[in-house]
Amino acid sequence: MFGYKCPVCGKETQYIPKFQGLCLDCFIKTRLGESLNGIESIKIDGKICPICGRISFNGSWYFLSKKLIEKRILGYLKDRVNLKSLGKISIEVVLNDDNILDIIETEEINGNFALRLEENILKQGIFTIKLKKKICPSCTSKAAGKYFESIIHIRLNVKTKDELRMKKKLIREIILSKVNDPFVNIKTLRNGFDVRLSDKVFESELLKLLSKNFTNIKINRYSTKKKTPDKKKIITINHLSITL
Ligand SMILES: [Zn+2]
Ligand SMILES: [Zn+2]
Repeated sequence: MFGYKCPVCGKETQYIPKFQGLCLDCFIKTRLGESLNGIESIKIDGKICPICGRISFNGSWYFLSKKLIEKRILGYLKDRVNLKSLGKISIEVVLNDDNILDIIETEEINGNFALRLEENILKQGIFTIKLKKKICPSCTSKAAGKYFESIIHIRLNVKTKDELRMKKKLIREIILSKVNDPFVNIKTLRNGFDVRLSDKVFESELLKLLSKNFTNIKINRYSTKKKTPDKKKIITINHLSITL
């Protein structure tokens, strides 16, 4: 069989018009020169929120995904190598560990990448993303009590001052020590509390605890709409009026 040979290096190859008849290696060399050399090992900086695990590379914060890392590594390569007009470029990464708790602890994401031109591998290598811990804007708003999804209005039905004092003490203890919301915010009122929960998921947790400790609970629900602190979204706030 007479195979087609690359006119530059003489290697047997397929004739691919897009590669101007060259083999892949020679095509890459003529188009990219030596610019792919030295990027077998990539180091990138980023930030990680130690509370929610969101990751940021340039201002926006996202939860970890393969896609997020692929986009960042492709961006890194495009900044250094002229990949324009080569053809269909794609990237694939494999993360060594995608457990976000490990990543928060080690402040590092590691893995392998493969840069492809159509089905051909242009470059393979390893990457390390060094992460600095920084609390993300969403967690900052929650910590400041500016972002909440649920307000529980607790009002106490009592006959004596002693009863009021005891009920208030118990409710405070329940909310502060047993509800897992790290951003719970309690406003103490004369005959109860306004409790702000950062996430609706904590509502049922709190209700369960209250009904364990109190009988005769009356609950009224309604909801309101509110803009998020960054004014980008409108969210529904749950209100629960609870009489104990
Ligand atoms: Zn060649
Ligand atoms: Zn966060």
